[in-house]
Amino acid sequence: MRMYDVIAKKRDGGKLTKEEIDYFVTGYTDGSVPDYQASALAMAIFLKGMDAEETTHLTSAMMHSGDTVDLTDIKGIKVDKHSTGGVGDTTTLVLGPLVAACGVPVAKMSGRGLGHTGGTLDKLEAIPGFDINLSIEEFIDAVNKHKLAVIGQTKDIAPADKKLYSLRDVTATVDNISLISASIMSKKLAAGSDAIVLDVKVGSGAFIKTFEQAEKLAQTMVELGTAIGRNVIGVITSMEQPLGEAIGNSVEVIEAIETLKGNGPEDLTDLCLNLGANMLLCAEHVDTFDEGVALLKEKISSGEALEKFREFVATQSGNPAVVDDYTLMKQPKTTVAYLASADGYIESTKADDIGIASMILGAGRESITDPIDMSAGILLKKKVGDQVNKGDLIATLFTDKDHKIEEAKAMLDEAIKISAHHVDKPKLIKAIVYKNETVLL
Ligand code: URA
Ligand code: CA
Repeated sequence: MRMYDVIAKKRDGGKLTKEEIDYFVTGYTDGSVPDYQASALAMAIFLKGMDAEETTHLTSAMMHSGDTVDLTDIKGIKVDKHSTGGVGDTTTLVLGPLVAACGVPVAKMSGRGLGHTGGTLDKLEAIPGFDINLSIEEFIDAVNKHKLAVIGQTKDIAPADKKLYSLRDVTATVDNISLISASIMSKKLAAGSDAIVLDVKVGSGAFIKTFEQAEKLAQTMVELGTAIGRNVIGVITSMEQPLGEAIGNSVEVIEAIETLKGNGPEDLTDLCLNLGANMLLCAEHVDTFDEGVALLKEKISSGEALEKFREFVATQSGNPAVVDDYTLMKQPKTTVAYLASADGYIESTKADDIGIASMILGAGRESITDPIDMSAGILLKKKVGDQVNKGDLIATLFTDKDHKIEEAKAMLDEAIKISAHHVDKPKLIKAIVYKNETVLL
């Protein structure tokens, strides 16, 4: 087989066989297929597309390009949750303990933040002592004992995807439904959970901008998971504005703890109940969505979910006393108020710009090796549809970098618009994609 012929076939709109896709993925992983041929094929796929069968072959080949985690030593149906990336998305910190408190094992591999989006690993490291570097044995042991552990994705998970994603990033071939689906699902499937709930974000803060595209992406990923024998549910949610009030690291840990105490922002709480109920459904722990929601609410009001968070933190060497004393986390040097410039209604709080403002304050990184400031970030007290008077507090900014405050405020001026007229509160949860049907909300 020659790579040249595989590229030419896709260029002319042909359908690639399993053997051709395996040849490409194996060769690209071991270096025998060079970047220039891989980028030509990525562009041909981008322009000509792939059908469901080709996408399944690509996913499977990338999933098997490195280690696959064997979680069979963990009793029960293991469930994972994955978000396609957002701003202020604190759900994993809430859902892990919440679902684990129901007795369902959550074995989760998470990522770091980059650009305007945050990452769960960074947030967890805002807790003094928290260790995300467990060995696979320690990880399995922790999930068996405590029903929950969160670690970083090891470098040997789907190495083909790691290489191909970096290549797509610099060759304008990221935004293709087949390539995105194969990329995300190859990693999730290699990470070993039996059931996966996907939070597919759509809007200004997400890389998918339209509902139609989000629906297609969710359906493709659900089909891929099903084809490989896993239970998968996709939930399509808006990322026009940040989730909850907190954007940053320690501020999001506090927000997660408050949500587990029953005092969380309404949008974050609603999304956690929805994703959590779908996780319980996927793990066959409940028979209906409503039963799932009721069980999760009970775990919050009884304090069991909060207790599980404490146990989770302690198991991974963190200080569980943060639950009662937030000042145990690093404190910012400067706190600045951002006020409403006019009377009216909040028309937009654009997620991507607010994510960038938070990054400028020190909470995020421009390149993957940049250090981050755990105490930096933003508390957004007003969201789209809220009524404000001139001078009302819209947001509080936290930073150690006083010289960056004006730049961050200028980003917020871009992100936050006030209308003189009434603005409706937008819908957060748009649709749930099950194996056999899509339910529009
Ligand atoms: N996230 C991924 O992991 N892969 C993509 O292709 C896009 C987003
Ligand atoms: Ca948040």
